[in-house]
Amino acid sequence: MTTSGATPTNCYAWLCSCRLFRMGRRLASVLTAALFPPRCALCSHELSCMGIICSCCEAALPSLAESRCQRCGEPLDDPSIDLCLRCGVSVHATDRIIVLGPYRGSWGALVRIFKFEKEVAVGNWLGRQMAATLMRQQELHHFDAVTYVPMTRKDRRARGFNQAEILARVIARQLDLPLKRLLTKSRNTRLQSQLTAAQRKTNLQDAFRLLPFDCERVLLVDDIFTTGSTIEECARTLKRGGAQTVVAAAIARA
Ligand SMILES: [Zn+2]
Ligand SMILES: [Zn+2]
Repeated sequence: MTTSGATPTNCYAWLCSCRLFRMGRRLASVLTAALFPPRCALCSHELSCMGIICSCCEAALPSLAESRCQRCGEPLDDPSIDLCLRCGVSVHATDRIIVLGPYRGSWGALVRIFKFEKEVAVGNWLGRQMAATLMRQQELHHFDAVTYVPMTRKDRRARGFNQAEILARVIARQLDLPLKRLLTKSRNTRLQSQLTAAQRKTNLQDAFRLLPFDCERVLLVDDIFTTGSTIEECARTLKRGGAQTVVAAAIARA
């Protein structure tokens, strides 16, 4: 008489069911790929293997102009200078801003597919592209933690996810760094790009709150860099809390 349900017969049945389950899952993915072959997210051409965009679209992804501001990545007309006018004349909390490409064109299209069509696989791919860029830049490799620009609870509930958090999670995993929630957003704000200079100053004031942390070097992730004021306000808040270095990473520059 046995007192446990794990008899040899039961174990064998369980193993068989696991094997059957794995075989069934493999068969389902083969059938799905045959019936619905993966297509490029940008041009819809059929992909020869699982992926997000085809090799032609990937090769054509635009990069930012060669001559760029060393801090914010803004294109520079004069290649002999290091900083754009904005970074040259004022002090910023964000030490450096890394952007993959311009928002106009393919980068922006991929961000919109991720955000508005809720294609999380595209977001994961964008996160891996950012991680690869950061890994190529050796001096940017030494962070204590990766964090992200937060959303209000209401906005997050409406979208179902925070796109910056998904990007940050992928980047943290790829760089083997801890992902930490260091900021919260306590109230709704208006889009900075639609405001006057005077309105922008008050729009973000005290919108972000710090959670307790002990990181000195923080990588702050967002999806788009538009006016830069959201990233700057987050970086300012992090530095008030003790961060020494804040580098921001965004997929596209509007
Ligand atoms: Zn394509
Ligand atoms: Zn600049």
